[in-house]
Amino acid sequence: VKKLTRRDLFKAAPIAGAAAAAGALGFRPAAEARVTTRGVCRFCLLHCGIEVTTEGSRVVRVQGDLQSRTRGFICQHGYALPEVVHAPERVRTPLLRRGERLVPVTWSDALAFVAARLEQVKQRWGPEALMVQTGWPLVRHPLVGLLHRFCRAFGSPNLVSVASLCEASLRMGQALTAGSKYPHDLQPDRTLVLWGANPSRAAPALTHALHRSAEARRLFVVDPTRTDLARRAAEHLQVRPGSDGALALGLAHLLISQARYDAAFVAEHVSGFDAFARYAEDFPPQRVAALTSVGVEQLERVARRFGSEGPVHIWQGLGVEQHVHGVQTVRALVALEALTGAFDEAWAKRQLTPPGPRFGDEPLPALYRMATPEPVPPPVKAKPVGYDELPLFEVYNREAQGNLFSRAVLEGKPYPVRALVLVASNPVTTAPGGARLLEAMRGLELLVSIDPFLTASGRLADVVLPASTFAEGPMVDEERGAARRNDDADTRVTQALVQAQHDAWPDWKIVFELSRALGLGAYFPWASLREALQAKHVPYMEDAAHQPRPRVASSARFSTPTGKVELVSTVLEDFGYPGLPEWKPPEPAPNAEYPLLLVSGPREAGFINSQFRGAPSIRAKVPEPVLRVHPSRGFESGARVALVTEHGRLELKVVVDPAVHPDAVVAPGGWDVASVNAVTSAELLDPISGFPAVRSTRCRLEACRLETCSQR
Ligand code: SF4
Repeated sequence: VKKLTRRDLFKAAPIAGAAAAAGALGFRPAAEARVTTRGVCRFCLLHCGIEVTTEGSRVVRVQGDLQSRTRGFICQHGYALPEVVHAPERVRTPLLRRGERLVPVTWSDALAFVAARLEQVKQRWGPEALMVQTGWPLVRHPLVGLLHRFCRAFGSPNLVSVASLCEASLRMGQALTAGSKYPHDLQPDRTLVLWGANPSRAAPALTHALHRSAEARRLFVVDPTRTDLARRAAEHLQVRPGSDGALALGLAHLLISQARYDAAFVAEHVSGFDAFARYAEDFPPQRVAALTSVGVEQLERVARRFGSEGPVHIWQGLGVEQHVHGVQTVRALVALEALTGAFDEAWAKRQLTPPGPRFGDEPLPALYRMATPEPVPPPVKAKPVGYDELPLFEVYNREAQGNLFSRAVLEGKPYPVRALVLVASNPVTTAPGGARLLEAMRGLELLVSIDPFLTASGRLADVVLPASTFAEGPMVDEERGAARRNDDADTRVTQALVQAQHDAWPDWKIVFELSRALGLGAYFPWASLREALQAKHVPYMEDAAHQPRPRVASSARFSTPTGKVELVSTVLEDFGYPGLPEWKPPEPAPNAEYPLLLVSGPREAGFINSQFRGAPSIRAKVPEPVLRVHPSRGFESGARVALVTEHGRLELKVVVDPAVHPDAVVAPGGWDVASVNAVTSAELLDPISGFPAVRSTRCRLEACRLETCSQR
């Protein structure tokens, strides 16, 4: 008997009746062949190896790839890939705003609309009135280079990435002090401090290595919250939010005053030591204990261990960076590493800043290599948003500071920004200063969202262009380590893990086609991402807007102007900042009206920033945002409170948690319902990096009962 396939049935009967006919005859449609493809999960920067099994156009199974670098590990987000790829909320076709509604249109109509509106903006305001903002999934992906290229071809310097909020303060502080960004050393025989970082949430694949450090009693945690890893650590220093710099300087003072630092390393490789030691004298244990809430006994105990057990390596997280003086706090922590001799020969091999040409002394190197295929777009005339007041952010990151977007739109400073293209970016749920940000986005002449989903930002857009997920298109699989110094040469384009869904396009194709619609096709002559990556790449020319950069000693171990670890930064002094890693308390300081400190944004177990809210398996575990408060605040779990700052007011459900610092309350980021961005500010910025101070916003809580709230 010939086996009838589903195709035969559809041929033999009207389509509407085919399924019923098959059922009545007892036939089962032939299962489509299962295909398994190896690839890389790109939901976060760990890039775990995965094996994806598909049946036709559907992902039916995901598992870890035992042969990959991550040896079969994947987390709940990797397993949720099918829910993301096949989510009913996916944007299926391009959408164009008609009044209050977004209506489906063809790709050519959508691209023609965007191109025409961008041309209008360029004619009226100049090309710099365009800002392009790219989000997490694309960080360090070759598409960032293509977006730089798109901006430059259009004539705008205003590419923004998550560097405006994440990691750049850390990297700048490392480079200003030791001449390069560098990774943590996770060997269990080294002392490791997790400082404002919670890798069991942010980097789960590395948790096993941290457990080994904890078992060896070499793990320390500095955090306002008693995290899971803090419970396992040799010491948990439960620091008051925003006082990390005082703690680092206090520990440095103890190391120096008790002669427990690596004097030989300091003599050969450190500059500014005497001035630093004098400054650290202002942080004796009693004062540091009062500032940080870490007791004198614990300070002295930890300093003794740091001074006697070899190099101390510090994994710094967003809890260090996202304060008003985050970069200087990072530098204080780097100084602490230097005093313990952490920058040894092994460290020198782990530097991450790409080397520049070695023609003698070289300009201060950017932290990320900037290369472009030929033909190179002409230099951009305008300076990026943020260049005037945050020049070092541009020097190290070569992009605009996105936290100044609202000011540029609403106040025209330094010039008006009138169009915003979001690429896998959702600032409404991820950026501070919610009310002002919404006003700015509503005031634009063009807002475009390129995303697989209709995000909170996309709902405000004039045009939404459906992007495929990372699994649906060719990917670039970086061989980490080898790729660090040479991203382009060591990247490999891999095949799609599942075919593209609906009418979604890969983001690179959207950029190419939009460029062609704008008449900029000469800069995007390729038919595929692979072709683009294979094109000859040359370094970007310095733009005319750039001022002369400080120069560094190219032959020394440390790529700073002195060739040493600079406890007094010559670059900071050249740019008018204090050279010492000065600590200042959170601004504005808590007072009687706002007695608490809001720590906003720590990652919840279920989510990665704003991702996965639509994945049922994950949303079921974390259905709504909650505010975690210490029992001493007098609330009960489940109560609703008003979280009040000078920037706004937000009602949230309380979870009472003794792990939280008594002076702090902790609210997650990334929610579009009850977004904590409504009570944070994009005006309180680090003066060096422009990072927002969202981990130490003063606040108060009001108990909500029958429309009235009473302060606690
Ligand atoms: S840790 Fe999870 S989200 Fe990150 S790459 Fe691995 S599987 Fe993906």
